[in-house]
Amino acid sequence: MLEFIDVSVCFHSGTADEKMALDHVSLRIEDGDFICVLGTNGAGKSTLLNVISGAIPVTSGKILLDGEDITHLPEHKRARAIGRLFQDPLKGTAPNMTIEENLGLAYSRGKRAGFHRAIKKKDRRFFIEKLSALHLGLEERLKTKVGLLSGGQRQALTLLMATIVTPKLLLLDEHTAALDPKTAASIMEISEEIIKQHQITTLMITHNISQALLYGNKTIILNEGKIVKVLEKEERKQTSVEDLLAMYDFV
Ligand code: ADP
Repeated sequence: MLEFIDVSVCFHSGTADEKMALDHVSLRIEDGDFICVLGTNGAGKSTLLNVISGAIPVTSGKILLDGEDITHLPEHKRARAIGRLFQDPLKGTAPNMTIEENLGLAYSRGKRAGFHRAIKKKDRRFFIEKLSALHLGLEERLKTKVGLLSGGQRQALTLLMATIVTPKLLLLDEHTAALDPKTAASIMEISEEIIKQHQITTLMITHNISQALLYGNKTIILNEGKIVKVLEKEERKQTSVEDLLAMYDFV
């Protein structure tokens, strides 16, 4: 379980540029929750994910992961428990390394077996099995440099890397927004399958209103650093895209 207790993030405190990116946010995320995070530009969505991953510090408040206070835990110490994908498929992979080497890095980091180690036969079999499940033919291209892949293939690989050792949390920051609609739909399908299969607690930022009702079990709307609406499963079922748009407009 992930818990936010009165978390605030203030940038440029005490100056004319002061900005409360998160304003006293309290939130409980249960194990297995798949939460869609909505909000206009500048609402605080990325900041919410950034304080979970440890990319930026909180100004006040606490973050607990399974009861452990991780508020001041450095980012690299959270990396094993938290997988993250960004809008840009170029983030998160090493373009000059092969598919197999990228997976090897992700796997050894997750396993804490040192930053890099030689890929063993049984690892290779495991990678082939995981890649085959993506149905993109990447299992035939273990020695292909990642820089040669398309955006969609690369995002699928990044997803696999982020989840190859099941993380406690998966943070998806508009991870399909840079892809064409067909590829985006296929990446969402793959994401949902992996999330469901491993019951990974997930937060997904999206600007796609229908995606925000279709995926996961909860939707939250942020505005000006505050959570202004939480739609639980039952309420979500009765919410149409138009209803959600109206809430969105309202905030
Ligand atoms: P969203 O992801 O919802 O678009 P962000 O979380 O990126 O919003 O940003 C929330 C607010 O905090 C915005 O006004 C943004 O300009 C500001 N902000 C975000 N990151 C920083 C930063 N590193 N330094 C200064 N201001 C920032």
